[in-house]
Amino acid sequence: MAAATQQPPTHTMDPPSVHGTHSEGVSPSVPGLFTTNPPIRDALETESSQLQDETIEECLPFLLTGEGHDYRNAHGIPHLYRDRHVQFLRKQLGNLPSMFKSADPSRPWIFYWCLAGLSLLGEDVGSYRSRLIETVQPMQNETGGFAGGFGQTSHLATTYATVLSLALVGGDDAYEVVDRRSMWKWLCSLKQPDGGFQMAVGGEEDRGLLRSCHHLAAQHPPRPITRLACIRGRPHWPFQWPWGMGQTYEGGVSAKPGVEAHGAYAFCALGCLSILDSPHRTVPRYLDVPRLLSWLSARQYAPEGGFSGRTNKLVDGCYSHWVGGCWPLLEASLNGPEGPATGPADHPPMQVDDSLFSRNGLIRYILCCGQDLSKRGGMRDKPSKYSDAYHTCYVLSGLSAAQHDWRLVSARADETMMDGDVWTVSLFVKDGQIFDEEDRVGTTHPVYAIPQHKAEDCQKYFASKQGF
Ligand SMILES: [Zn+2]
Repeated sequence: MAAATQQPPTHTMDPPSVHGTHSEGVSPSVPGLFTTNPPIRDALETESSQLQDETIEECLPFLLTGEGHDYRNAHGIPHLYRDRHVQFLRKQLGNLPSMFKSADPSRPWIFYWCLAGLSLLGEDVGSYRSRLIETVQPMQNETGGFAGGFGQTSHLATTYATVLSLALVGGDDAYEVVDRRSMWKWLCSLKQPDGGFQMAVGGEEDRGLLRSCHHLAAQHPPRPITRLACIRGRPHWPFQWPWGMGQTYEGGVSAKPGVEAHGAYAFCALGCLSILDSPHRTVPRYLDVPRLLSWLSARQYAPEGGFSGRTNKLVDGCYSHWVGGCWPLLEASLNGPEGPATGPADHPPMQVDDSLFSRNGLIRYILCCGQDLSKRGGMRDKPSKYSDAYHTCYVLSGLSAAQHDWRLVSARADETMMDGDVWTVSLFVKDGQIFDEEDRVGTTHPVYAIPQHKAEDCQKYFASKQGF
């Protein structure tokens, strides 16, 4: 991680010198990097540097003394408050009243965040199937796509969230909600001459350029989600779009040329490229991988251990997913397929030194700082913030990324192929694992952000159908 490169080489030789009572109870297994203030700092004080200092002060007690947590394991790591987080998400999801009663455009996202979060926590979300179907059916427009509420315009983001939610609850009746023919026409109408896509007909293209490509690619035919909608053919792929222009001078990816790099766009770019073709071919073709690697690495901070979304911004739990989710895709683009998928025997556990980021640093941040410690439950941005469904979903996704090892074990023959990429997942284990096994969450597919078997169930269902 780049934060580590700012440390003098002798740093690890120094015993952790922590002020006050902070050192009490800190396991010797925790590197000094994660227990002390950064030894090198810019002499220029700015509003950003002050906020950064305050954030470290805010996080350190949670990291070091387990403030607010009544349990800490031998590594000083608290449990995942699974039951409270389940309760929080179920409450957020409510009883899914009809969309006729509510027209909040973010509601499909609430469905996705809660259902994905519950799945990661090991809950069966199939019980929400009929209520979800009843709720989202009126949100589908005859002209194609899903709106945020009844009578609203279809939008790529709400369509994406709705399709993922239907895949999460699973079942033929859920898949059948999607009108694939009108969806296909609508998706094609969003295509722009420059290769990008509008988020809605006549709507923004700029800010959503990459985001929309990711959402759209995720709904196109080649792989699981696209097979959710099972729309065949791909007449207008955005290959002519100048992908490199989304990469900034810093090496990160921005929403459009000329604006600041942001973690969420890095994930969308990598995800989209991994759908269009196998990542070891598309990612190096359209992005400068070493520079992206450098920028992503610089997103992990010490001593906090979590990720920030932009340069000089603060650590925030949701980037555990947006940045944390980039690593398996980046690893796949660097390594390519490692041979045929013949099962776990060919997939030995990954060792810590193989990781491109500090998994333990991220896990420590999430479990110490990312959990709402009140009875409310849920996950949060940082200790001074309240939990919400968005952060609960993406913090748990990030925890999953840190606790598991995804590998691309087989790749499609070439970019003309719609199919053939095979990803496998194994538990990330190593000597001195810092979290308790009961605090391991479920897996989520590196490209589609839903459990792999949910994606595969959908794929199977639509693969058996002819045409629309
Ligand atoms: Zn956030």
